[in-house]
Amino acid sequence: MKKAIICGGSIGGLFAAAALRKSGWQVDVFERTEIELSGRGAGIVTHDVLIEALRAIDITTDDLGVYVKDRTAYDKNGNELLRLPFPQIVTSWDRIHSLLRASHPNEHHHLGRAAIGYRQEQNKAIAILDDKTEIEADLVIGADGFGSNIRAQMLPNVKSISSGYVVWRALANESDLSEEVRSDVFKTFGFFVPTGSQIIGYPIAGIGNDLREGRRRYNFVWYIGVEADELKDMLTDNNGNYYSVSIPPPLVRDDVMKRFTETAHRILPANFAEILEKSEMPFFTPIYDHHSPIMGYGNVGLVGDAACVARPHVGMGVTKAACDALCLAKSLDNFSNIPDALAAYSEERVAASARAHYRARDLGATIFVDPEGGNEDGSRNPNLHEIVSTTATIVI
Ligand SMILES: Cc1cc2nc3c(=O)[nH]c(=O)nc-3n(C[C@H](O)[C@H](O)[C@H](O)COP(=O)(O)OP(=O)(O)OC[C@H]3O[C@@H](n4cnc5c(N)ncnc54)[C@H](O)[C@@H]3O)c2cc1C
Repeated sequence: MKKAIICGGSIGGLFAAAALRKSGWQVDVFERTEIELSGRGAGIVTHDVLIEALRAIDITTDDLGVYVKDRTAYDKNGNELLRLPFPQIVTSWDRIHSLLRASHPNEHHHLGRAAIGYRQEQNKAIAILDDKTEIEADLVIGADGFGSNIRAQMLPNVKSISSGYVVWRALANESDLSEEVRSDVFKTFGFFVPTGSQIIGYPIAGIGNDLREGRRRYNFVWYIGVEADELKDMLTDNNGNYYSVSIPPPLVRDDVMKRFTETAHRILPANFAEILEKSEMPFFTPIYDHHSPIMGYGNVGLVGDAACVARPHVGMGVTKAACDALCLAKSLDNFSNIPDALAAYSEERVAASARAHYRARDLGATIFVDPEGGNEDGSRNPNLHEIVSTTATIVI
């Protein structure tokens, strides 16, 4: 039986584990975090391709998430500017992760074990962990996300690029919202797009994947432009410690939260303002992206965010990781030699990732379009139809 080591036990790593196991591999996953992962309830938009990928690894997709039937853009006064029929299932990171995690045997899942790099040897690769343990396998996969150590060793020139904006996210319980919001914006995939900002939101399951009316939550997402100095300040805690990539939510300073609340009162329409006000602690993440020119070499491959992060506007992170995993398993089935299989995998997935990466950048750029006459009330964004009809849609 061929052996694979996967570094990273989030969605990309577990998808790859399931796809390889189905092809007859013995797969061990090494995850840096010491406790089982949780996504703080972040929302995930699904695509048909993701649902097909879950089925391909024998995961049932019943009750995957909340069905929304249309998309609606609002202006600052809460008036409807545009409504498009757009059936889609929206779910949560936790739901997808828990389905994948349940499919992976506990005895092959190793928490609190971080990979620091690898060594390529004749016909095999060695994963090197932070306690200096070396584990030999036919294949080592870097599924260790955005700041991947495996990618850093394979492709030291690939650096993350800052987008110039952050995303604030929050979740509101359906039961806490007014009847007005529950009967309108809660039911839809909503948008508000004034210059310099972009708000989107959609309903997701409640705690424990509860899909019953009254028990669900609304996932609020706000992209907002920030200058480099301001971002540095936002990423600095009360003790003056600066977190270069993202700051743990409990360490965000009170004055940063106060400024955020004031900006929200100034900019948001009443419906989204109420959702934010009723939400548990909002948190922010700076948006970066990167794209790797290869996704495998020798006996070492990359999947998911380790290989490429497309900005979240295309909502492709999970679907892209799923497609990477299936393509990897298919290539390994098709070639007797692992380096050839990884070369074929790389060729197919680098091109697909690049399409998502550049499409997401284009969509991100629409945040800053400022037409003549301004767009403070969100009604005059010349890209409104494009934003509503192409955000979080599949990029083939
Ligand atoms: C605001 C926002 C909205 C999003 N919306 C969507 C959406 O609607 N649809 C969608 O599909 N995607 C969305 N995404 C993206 C999606 O969450 C990710 O792309 C997806 O989870 C990719 O997973 P991954 O496993 O490749 O990487 P990650 O989820 O980053 O996982 C990497 C894992 O590796 C572990 N790790 C890190 N370093 C090491 C190491 N050295 N050794 C061992 N383990 C390590 C980490 O602890 C982590 O568990 C969104 C992202 C953001 C920020």
